[in-house]
Amino acid sequence: MKKKHFTSTILHADRQGRPEHGVLHKPIHTSVAFGYEDARELAEVFQNKRKGYAYGRQNNPTIDALANKITLMEQGLDSVIFATGMAAIGSTLLALLRSGDHIVSSAFLFGNTNSLFNTLNSLGIEVTFVDATDASNVEAAIKPNTKLVFVETIANPVTQVADLSAIGELCEKRKLIYFVDNTMTSPCLFLPITVKASLIINSLTKYIGGHGNALGGCVTDTGLYDWSSFENIYDNYKNKDSSQWGITQIRKKGLRDFGAALGPEAAHHLSVGSDTLSLRIKHACDNALAIAKFCENHPKVNKVFYPGLSTHPQHERARELFNHFGAIFSIELDASIDCFDFLNSLELVVCSSNLGDNRSLGIPVAHTIYYEMGAERRASMGIPESMVRFSIGIEDQADLIADFKQALAD
Ligand SMILES: *Cc1c(COP(=O)(O)O)cnc(C)c1O
Repeated sequence: MKKKHFTSTILHADRQGRPEHGVLHKPIHTSVAFGYEDARELAEVFQNKRKGYAYGRQNNPTIDALANKITLMEQGLDSVIFATGMAAIGSTLLALLRSGDHIVSSAFLFGNTNSLFNTLNSLGIEVTFVDATDASNVEAAIKPNTKLVFVETIANPVTQVADLSAIGELCEKRKLIYFVDNTMTSPCLFLPITVKASLIINSLTKYIGGHGNALGGCVTDTGLYDWSSFENIYDNYKNKDSSQWGITQIRKKGLRDFGAALGPEAAHHLSVGSDTLSLRIKHACDNALAIAKFCENHPKVNKVFYPGLSTHPQHERARELFNHFGAIFSIELDASIDCFDFLNSLELVVCSSNLGDNRSLGIPVAHTIYYEMGAERRASMGIPESMVRFSIGIEDQADLIADFKQALAD
């Protein structure tokens, strides 16, 4: 089939595998095990010499179809699906790294990723946190044992945009794995392969699923990293072309051994949700831009953090890299208004910790998702105590503006 645009491609992705009876959705396969008439075939599947399914923890046709969809979205080589985004990040890092290795990470991270990286530190995988909005900070932190650089596209909740292109150049030059968390942008707004990412993680729970009804995570290998130069690949995963080495080790050491497999029913929810990703996210981004502009001009709002505003420090970079500016923004309220009272006055916006839902959600970050981190680290990440983060959904824009107007007037 001739190459199509984003939505046409993913709407018809499941049909590529010629599914049974011509079904348009890949069926939900619930079988844990798969039977073989020829015992040699099963052995070949185990030995990685033949495509096939052996046991549900490693793969399943429903999961495979979802992985194929994400690979197409990211224009990558192959993907592995996990039970959650955190499982994808944790399992991948533990599959690829060893004690004594070093990671350079953006300091502006999703709270649980930050917590995970502190665990890695205690296990002997050292992590250095840097301000990744400037690639020279990443470069200065590289050591002889550095194996990998980790960044998010738009960070949460202050919305810093990493120096994505320059870090990609740097990783290529220094032969480092460039691991990009694309959750906040999704492959619809940004393709990390265009900035030379080696691996991409998407939390499918957020925009890709979009409906807040299933958890899921995915790691995609873009095919750009030369795994033959990576010393941590185990010999038994080297029986194929070296382009397969990384993803094979992630699938075996990461998914199989840690076991955070996604259930097929959740995969179906996520797959159906992903059909409308492009339509949903564009509408949500338009809404977010309009509300961010409204808040920017409101006397009870001290500061708005949103890459779509010309005052944002990385506004030009975001304009260059992304199709839209994302649907997440945060505000710092004036001292005359309490962040809890303000959230309680909002009628449409639900007070909730998720993001990427169709519904607009808001949360007081210092008291919730960044509470465990402590005041000092919050301050170092530029998170004020009165900050409220919004994940704007696809409600009608006039209703959202009216809601913010009445809540700020109280
Ligand atoms: C939510 C999120 C994750 C984790 O995904 P889960 O599916 O909730 O485990 C990772 N990174 C970012 C940027 C996220 O927003």
